Amino acid sequence: MNEVMQLKTDLHRLTVELIGNCKYCSLISSNVEFKTPIYCTKFTGATHPTCVDVGTCLACQEYKRT
Ligand code: SF4
Repeated sequence: MNEVMQLKTDLHRLTVELIGNCKYCSLISSNVEFKTPIYCTKFTGATHPTCVDVGTCLACQEYKRT
C-alpha cells in the first residue's frame, strides 16, 4: 500500500470513529476515494441524506453531542 492510500485509509478509519456515532449519520461510505462519504440526515431527513465531507462534520460538531 502506498503512502497516499495509507493516509486515505487512516483518515477513513478516523472518520468512522469520530463521526460514526453521530445520531444524524446514517452511513459512511467504505470508498476511501469518495470526497463526501458521510450520509447526514440532519438537514434533509432520513429518506434523503446529504453527503458531506469530514470538514462539514468538524464545523457542525453535532457528533460531540451524541
Ligand atoms: S454534518 Fe453534523 S449532523 Fe451531519 S453527520 Fe456530520 S456531525 Fe452529524
